[in-house]
Amino acid sequence: MDISKVRAILFDLDGTLYYQPPLRMLMGFELSTLPLTMGSLAKTRSVLEVIKQFRTIREELRHLGNPSECLKEIQYQQASKVVGVKAEEVKRIVEEWMYHRPLKYLKWCRRMGAISFFTEAQRRGIKIGVFSDYPAQEKLEALELESFVQLVLCATDKEINAFKPHPRGFLRACECWGLPPQEVLYVGDRPEVDGKGALAAGMPCMMVGGTFQRPSQGSVSEENISSFRGLQQLLSS
Ligand SMILES: [Mg+2]
Repeated sequence: MDISKVRAILFDLDGTLYYQPPLRMLMGFELSTLPLTMGSLAKTRSVLEVIKQFRTIREELRHLGNPSECLKEIQYQQASKVVGVKAEEVKRIVEEWMYHRPLKYLKWCRRMGAISFFTEAQRRGIKIGVFSDYPAQEKLEALELESFVQLVLCATDKEINAFKPHPRGFLRACECWGLPPQEVLYVGDRPEVDGKGALAAGMPCMMVGGTFQRPSQGSVSEENISSFRGLQQLLSS
């Protein structure tokens, strides 16, 4: 890959800037203590059901593309219908269990080599941004990476309102930076979401632990990047 043409790198957050399996384990442990802390099995079941259904609905909403209604609202309303809990309560549970409680563990799950890579990219004048389907600012702060990142975008931002793999969020980053998509590299962890979206926007992309794809060819190249160290080597080569 010719990294000399890359003037900015846009990152996915969950699973890309931190390892997800240890975080899921820690959150699983915290959830397992709920019957004790809440003192009610029914309330525990309700929390678990909300989280489960919300996740499923979020995956289904990818197919909506860029709707005229507000995705932030739709996601809570649809989960509310399925679980039979008020939309405000769904929002409260999601914010608590998916956004706030995991923050304290994030630093310990940060992907190895991330700080070193960000430092090197910054030294080379490469712009760094994050585009995630979930709100990213607090997570970046918890990961202690926020000082490297100039652009933070979320799929539910008013100007985007489209989950990946819709290209809108990817193109919004190019717009904010004033760069053509070919000069922005997207780094993610899910080829069917991150890879597909970046390619639809005309950006080169790289899957951490996966394979690099070039939009002009539309096919998978030989190059494999297993970690941030690999990415950094590429930058230095
Ligand atoms: Mg991800």
